Amino acid sequence: MSADPLTPAPEARNARGEWRPPYPIKYAPVFAWPPQFAALLKWLFGFPGFLWPLNLLLLGISAVSWYLTQPAIARCVHFEAGWIAQIYVRNLVMMWLFYGSYHLYLYTWRREGTNRKYDPNWPATKSRLFLFGDQVYDNIFWTSGVALLVWTGYEVVTLWLYANHRIPWLEWSQHPVWFVAWFFIIPFWREFHFYWVHRLIHWKPLYKHVHYLHHKNLNPNPWSGMAMHPVETIIYLSVCLIHWIIPSHPFHFLFDLQHAALGPASGHHGFEGPIANGKWPTGSYFHYLHHRYFECNYGESTIPLDRWFGTFRDGLPDGEGAKLAGEHKD
Ligand SMILES: [Zn+2]
Ligand SMILES: [Zn+2]
Repeated sequence: MSADPLTPAPEARNARGEWRPPYPIKYAPVFAWPPQFAALLKWLFGFPGFLWPLNLLLLGISAVSWYLTQPAIARCVHFEAGWIAQIYVRNLVMMWLFYGSYHLYLYTWRREGTNRKYDPNWPATKSRLFLFGDQVYDNIFWTSGVALLVWTGYEVVTLWLYANHRIPWLEWSQHPVWFVAWFFIIPFWREFHFYWVHRLIHWKPLYKHVHYLHHKNLNPNPWSGMAMHPVETIIYLSVCLIHWIIPSHPFHFLFDLQHAALGPASGHHGFEGPIANGKWPTGSYFHYLHHRYFECNYGESTIPLDRWFGTFRDGLPDGEGAKLAGEHKD
């Protein structure tokens, strides 16, 4: 996340050839003190900002999938192959469109070359570290093969719970303010939840058996996003369980889960935006630094949890002092 992704930055690489922004990364002005009202408004409604492009894009995707592909809730009273398959295929298509587009543009066609690619190397091939000896195939297996099943599983169980009135259901007509507020709360809730579960899976026993798999990707690409051990995917996507407790509409639930399942593509593709002739702000240098150093930047760049808890790193050092994550761990 850069200070101003629409300002093209010059090539700035350290001694290892890694691209780094010529400015330290900054948090969004949400929790700034004293308050910065003008900056906050610009961040909320400007481009690029909180709403546009990422959150409104994901909300739009959720709306389209809700209106065009969501099975009627009456069908979900019983677990039946038809509606479950419908959700699985819908999620599969969405995943390939979203992750696949970034992969196609940045890695197959290499339209940006290595311009502002954090790590100048392309994904590993002929590497014994990865399944099939290939980083991208390995990542696709875990993301599209395994994580997709967990994602779909959460949707299937939760729809069954909604259909059988076992969890609360909030209608627009009951509380329109709360109904709209959910859409603003969900991205913050996601980030808050992600920080804490991410700290949890860095606890040594969980790291060793579970989270190590995601961290094989020192040099991430779009498909690294959900390349996780299934236990991690279950923990990570548990973000949606809030809807089992606090009244919301199934559409809020859908948005929350799709946000969590699709968002990692743009957080892992390994390029600093904007891409596509400077038109599309995207990328997360913040999270790249986590893959690079492991023990920093557990969250994201809106809620300054890493700063509050002393794990924030705002950039790479210039020269040889830049330790690799592998060297950083024990
Ligand atoms: Zn990651
Ligand atoms: Zn981690």
